[in-house]
Amino acid sequence: MTVKHWGLSIDGGYRPAKSGRSFSVENPKDGSIVAEVAEGDAADIEVAVTAAERAFPVWAALTGAERADIMHRTAELLRRRLPELVTIEIDQIGRPRREMAAQLARLPEWFSYFGAVARTHEDTVPPFAGEYLNYTRRVPLGVVGHVTPWNHPLLILTKKVAPSLAAGNAMVVKPSELAPITPLLLGEILKEAGVPDGVYNVVPGFGATAGLALSSHPRIRKLDLTGGTETGKAVASIAGRNLVKMAAELGGKAAVIVFPDTDVQRAVAATLFASFIASGQTCVQGARLLVHRSMHDQVVAELVRRAAEIRLGDPQIETTQMGPLVSKKQRDLVQRYVHIGIEEGAHLAFGGEPPQGSAFASGFYMLPTIFTNVTPRMRIAQEEIFGPVVCVMPFDTEEEALTAANGTEFGLATSIWTRDIARAHRVAHALQCGITWINDHHRIDPASPWGGFKMSGIGRENGLVAYEEYTQIQNIIVNLSDTLFDWYADDDQAKRYS
Ligand code: NDP
Repeated sequence: MTVKHWGLSIDGGYRPAKSGRSFSVENPKDGSIVAEVAEGDAADIEVAVTAAERAFPVWAALTGAERADIMHRTAELLRRRLPELVTIEIDQIGRPRREMAAQLARLPEWFSYFGAVARTHEDTVPPFAGEYLNYTRRVPLGVVGHVTPWNHPLLILTKKVAPSLAAGNAMVVKPSELAPITPLLLGEILKEAGVPDGVYNVVPGFGATAGLALSSHPRIRKLDLTGGTETGKAVASIAGRNLVKMAAELGGKAAVIVFPDTDVQRAVAATLFASFIASGQTCVQGARLLVHRSMHDQVVAELVRRAAEIRLGDPQIETTQMGPLVSKKQRDLVQRYVHIGIEEGAHLAFGGEPPQGSAFASGFYMLPTIFTNVTPRMRIAQEEIFGPVVCVMPFDTEEEALTAANGTEFGLATSIWTRDIARAHRVAHALQCGITWINDHHRIDPASPWGGFKMSGIGRENGLVAYEEYTQIQNIIVNLSDTLFDWYADDDQAKRYS
């Protein structure tokens, strides 16, 4: 099979990296090469930022309604190209077809929603003492930078691109080097929809070179990163030196809290979905199952039985339920945590190793893994593993469940499972996290704010807040009086002091 070569996407066309270098994108199911991609670095970031600066005034000058028309066209074109995008996404990251088809089918909603926001957003007329008309305008920031991870390549990028476009910004994207192809293809779709050349630029490359050059660039106005917490801290401190506005969607250690009025089958189905979708490689992964002691043994037995039935295999096949992890590095990391858990005294109830068989020999597969006898301070219960590992911990009281749920440095998401409406809201209000689901997990909508407390990040994706965070407020204060105001005139006129 011939391997396709991709360039950097700058100013509406593909081009090689200035260094002439490229890197390979590997298929995690068997280690084969999916594509060769130009490897951008600081010199290419400079070219991309300059192209974006040129394009920015053109895009910003359009009315919200004009931008909305283009974004609605984007949604339509995206819908048409979904089959191709799904196939590439699977080849890049190994997530099964049933997951990627479901996820990507929703992406057009982001362009429709933020297109509608661009069309309908209203500014404010705040009160102002005296004879004044006082109003605000939300204006775009300018050139913004997006640094994105590999786990949901197109979804996470779309969450950043749609509000940026709606608000009138131009952008430079540094995708994960593990999954740069769909971000490049999005550029083709945006161009066809009518987004002017240079508004959306993609410079694939590595975090330490291209990522660093983008986050430290003095002429970007915002840096929006999704990635690990350590990366977030490093990038925020670099961007902060230029007073660049920062948004960061970072790591998590979500808890699934199951109260005793929950049906066992429901609790188990919830945990399987929360913990093992995307092979556990999601920021809101149900990494900790906090289950009431009265149902702990029953839930664990059923969880183990159902986990053993999950069909691992070729992610391109419709019936596969779990694909490989994204890379050897990621699988090694997960296996290291399995050893740490065993050394800490946790009981490995299921999994903990790659599946056996020739079908899995050259891919980066890992069995769904269940630890019991876990205590809240163990490393496996505290640190983000980012793999298909769930730590089960029993609790006796609501307070105990809350203390454990809140007892990590993260604060991204939690799900609460109960039929007691008062308890559900009471617990939700006491949780230190940005997203709480009641009787559900991992649901998302373009209109609903997404982001974390504590070390899980700053800023929010989705919703009006995301649009507003891609704007800056301009305040216009209009004096409606024709009376001469002359502070230094030598007369008896009452003076003002503000
Ligand atoms: P990383 O933090 O390793 O990388 C994220 C992105 O940042 C990549 O494009 C990476 O490039 C780049 N990068 C790394 N170092 C630097 C640097 N010094 N300067 C600028 N850019 C840099 O995360 P992963 O890609 O491994 O993704 C997994 C992480 O993302 C998990 O921690 C997960 O929790 C988090 N995440 C959070 C979400 C949320 O909504 N809160 C959603 C999804 C994921 P390169 O790949 O070349 O290193």
